[in-house]
Amino acid sequence: MKIIIIGGVAGGATAAARLRRLNETDEIIIIEKDKYISYANCGLPYYIGDVIKEKERLLVQTVEGMSQRFNLDVRINSEVTSINRSEKKISIMKTLTKEVYEESYDILILSCGAKPIRPNIKGLSDADNIFTLKNVDDTVAIKDFIIKNKIKRASVIGGGFIGIEVAENIVNLGVQTTIIEKMPQVLRPLDFETAQIVHRELNTHGINLILNDGLNEFFDKGHKIKLDSSSIIEADIVIMALGVVPENALAKSANLMLGKRGHVIVSDTFNTFGNDGSIVNDIYAIGDMIEVKNPLDDSSYSVPLAWGANRQGRILADHINGHAIKKSRILGSNVLKVFDLTVASTGANEVTLKEKKIDYTAIHAHRANHASYYPNSTNISLKIIYDKQSGKIFGAQAIGREGVEKRIDVIATVMRLNGTIYDLSDLELCYAPPYSSAKDPVNILGYMAENIQEDAYKVVYHDQIDDLVAKGGLLIDVRTNLEYENGHISGAKNIPIDEFRNRVSEITVSKETPIYVMCQVGVRAYLALRILSSLGYKDIYNLSGGYTTYKNYKYQTRQNVTSDEHINNGGDDNMTQVSSNSIIEVDVQGLQCPGPLMATYKAIQNISVGSQIKVIASDPSFMEDVGNWCSTNGHTLISKTSDNGKYIAIVQKGNEVKCGVTLNSQENATIVVFSGDLDKLIASMIIAQGAAAQGKKVTMFFTFWGLNALRKPKKVKVSKTIIEKMFGWMMPRGADKMPLSNMNMAGIGAKMIKGIMKTKNVDDITTMMQKAQEVGVKFIACTMSMDLMGIKKEELIDGIEYAGVATYISKNENVGTTLFI
Ligand SMILES: Cc1cc2nc3c(=O)[nH]c(=O)nc-3n(C[C@H](O)[C@H](O)[C@H](O)COP(=O)(O)OP(=O)(O)OC[C@H]3O[C@@H](n4cnc5c(N)ncnc54)[C@H](O)[C@@H]3O)c2cc1C
Repeated sequence: MKIIIIGGVAGGATAAARLRRLNETDEIIIIEKDKYISYANCGLPYYIGDVIKEKERLLVQTVEGMSQRFNLDVRINSEVTSINRSEKKISIMKTLTKEVYEESYDILILSCGAKPIRPNIKGLSDADNIFTLKNVDDTVAIKDFIIKNKIKRASVIGGGFIGIEVAENIVNLGVQTTIIEKMPQVLRPLDFETAQIVHRELNTHGINLILNDGLNEFFDKGHKIKLDSSSIIEADIVIMALGVVPENALAKSANLMLGKRGHVIVSDTFNTFGNDGSIVNDIYAIGDMIEVKNPLDDSSYSVPLAWGANRQGRILADHINGHAIKKSRILGSNVLKVFDLTVASTGANEVTLKEKKIDYTAIHAHRANHASYYPNSTNISLKIIYDKQSGKIFGAQAIGREGVEKRIDVIATVMRLNGTIYDLSDLELCYAPPYSSAKDPVNILGYMAENIQEDAYKVVYHDQIDDLVAKGGLLIDVRTNLEYENGHISGAKNIPIDEFRNRVSEITVSKETPIYVMCQVGVRAYLALRILSSLGYKDIYNLSGGYTTYKNYKYQTRQNVTSDEHINNGGDDNMTQVSSNSIIEVDVQGLQCPGPLMATYKAIQNISVGSQIKVIASDPSFMEDVGNWCSTNGHTLISKTSDNGKYIAIVQKGNEVKCGVTLNSQENATIVVFSGDLDKLIASMIIAQGAAAQGKKVTMFFTFWGLNALRKPKKVKVSKTIIEKMFGWMMPRGADKMPLSNMNMAGIGAKMIKGIMKTKNVDDITTMMQKAQEVGVKFIACTMSMDLMGIKKEELIDGIEYAGVATYISKNENVGTTLFI
């Protein structure tokens, strides 16, 4: 039999080798238009960045080597220009001489791949600096252009796999690089909150990231790029990485059936079809040029990745040699290196499931890659999406430094074997401290899913929580005070988990009211939820992935990375500012947030003002946290660098060390507002605002008659006992209705004082209270007095917190000033 394969790289070369192994006598010819066969296209970007130093290493097989070993007729620099289906012949043009000849076939295999998209953009044809990346020649051309022209600024258009790999490698050559992406995120297989971690990593390594803005026009020979927003980006080199389209010209001219996006449609045995729908028994197609089946719902889609091409090459050879083959389904498992991070995913993401209107549950987890007590453990952020009814896994995403792809590989295996989330907890995976934990992160995902399935709690997501809190939902943050102070969700009430049992009385909502609980990653919140559940609370939710996922979701992408947002790779521009005295080194590798911050805080207590500490962390979010922490606590972040996956921050102790308000807040003030008199309330507001203006943290604790100041002016419908209703009628509704302590004269005195305040341009009491809140004064309503006086939460103004005596005492522990009014 004479078998001709068009395309000699991933699918084509694999098919040829397998065909020969299965049959010694067939005539096998590979026709390849390029000058290389079987090269490592996946390694091309790394040659640009000098990670792969010799071009020859990209050539997996030479023509001679492959021809000899597998007894193949390999013809490079040869392009197939047409297929004559009725005569079973192809025309081949020798690309160097343009000579054309014909070759007959018994079986024809198309593995022509895909080509980079080059849109019809104004100014593209005049440009002298625009490249795409598909093969070895493109790679060499890009690298030569950068080096010969001493390129300083590059723009990569498109934030897919190739765009990001190229951008990273160009940065490694010392070129300032901008990625321009039309969508709100890079890497479409990921959901937004996972992609946000990639955005941060790109910014961290100095890449400017422009999202939501597409390429519109080139001018100045490609050295200026106009975007849809009309902004202009200057670039000495432009790499177009807008995705790929199938290389389908031959298939089209041979009247083979194509799908909506131009891919060749094939049967389960890779036979092509004619335009009339009839099967073509002697022409097969594989690889990037075909439509594949999505295991989610058997729909057609394309997955231009190497695994599919290689797998199809092999099983097609089996089929041609009479072996039974399994139906091929492609999950789209993928992995990518993004500087110090690895990002991997498999199966469907939320976006796809929403488009397909498939119901799902998603879980986020943040776990150490191996036992956290063993040195150098790092964090992996994982997400799994599954069917709530059957437990079938739809997809998973993971990002971190080590062990990321291993976890996705395990989940992809479970998916391939039609497993469910219930199988995840039962997987017996290898364990020793340097490699994993006795409960591997994949097991943990299984346990979490089981808890949700067993209705131990429900989940609420990072993109829902702000709205829920804004509408009055109760969100309890069970992290430590330090964690809370270093960043929290607006409106969240902080009850640290270790105080939770003693302070649970501060939760005054009914047992049926929804309660949202959060911590850093979800573990402590789960404990709090169990306590609430045992107390009879029925509608309780864990914030999926905790503050870590929420913070990732909220990351603000940088279009112009400045030097202090940018971690230097391997070097340190600011070394001149680093103290020449010996610096105390704090190694917090392996600790997850807030561990590194706590350690930094403790270490800085032990040095004098002006001295420096060097903190070495492995948690990338520490780099962001340490900057915020320094600026709010009066220290200076001298430098931040990354060295082989270690994040190093040098911090200089400042003069004005505020160091965590709740830990050392001698300068803060608490005002207990007990009185229900207008004049006393005015006095307390004036003092509160004055103290806040001096930088003090002020907490006003409203109790008994003082609670009236917080009442809404209009009646609110709430259920009350008769006594509570009577109390309500007798008490003033809000600050504006409060009487004077002296000379009230049935309200005339209060009116007089308000008039005087107006003429003297003093704010009225309501404005005073608003202004106090705007400058950060915290209003806390005493829940115990509310209960005694029959005042309900719904009756009080917005933007206040609710707490019991324990909170008052804890706030009061380290304050310098306490007033009882
Ligand atoms: C820069 C880069 C990085 C990548 N990185 C990864 C990665 O990390 N992981 C991953 O899974 N995938 C990666 N891929 C994708 C992967 O390389 C492809 O999915 C895979 O190579 C597809 O195999 P294929 O056989 O379909 O096509 P290819 O391997 O592209 O081979 C097609 C060949 O057909 C030849 N050809 C086309 N038309 C004709 C014709 N008319 N006559 C003769 N010859 C013809 C072409 O010259 C080409 O050499 C990457 C691709 C690129 C370009």
